[in-house]
Amino acid sequence: MTTTNCPYCGAEIDSDAQRCYVCKKWLTDKTNVLEDKPQEFLPTLLFSYFLGVFGVHRFFTESIAIGVTQLLTFGGCGIWAYIDFILICFNKYRDGQGRLLSNYNPNIGITVFVISLIPLVLILFMIFIMTLAILAASTK
Ligand SMILES: [Zn+2]
Repeated sequence: MTTTNCPYCGAEIDSDAQRCYVCKKWLTDKTNVLEDKPQEFLPTLLFSYFLGVFGVHRFFTESIAIGVTQLLTFGGCGIWAYIDFILICFNKYRDGQGRLLSNYNPNIGITVFVISLIPLVLILFMIFIMTLAILAASTK
């Protein structure tokens, strides 16, 4: 038999105990509170960035219905998934229970957001250059 300390009064109790025999508090309540914490910001951000089109960040944060929808629609053709990603970067994203993520870090959020814009800017720049090239060719 293993023992643990009561989180309320510190008494040494059986680790399988449902209730502390000293202070009479229910220990199952404490377990529920710990499990009820929202997911962490950083893993959610990484899931969103790398696997967002599969809705993985939604499954991770207990938003199952939206997760399934995003999985079937490839994250709303990527647009919905990218909106979620931006919301996570700026701490506006809410999980399946309407809570913000825990341990938000604005420096990481903003940095990752700026990095995510680089491919977008490159694509727009290439489209711009190609448009100029087509226009130049057609005026000859
Ligand atoms: Zn106790």
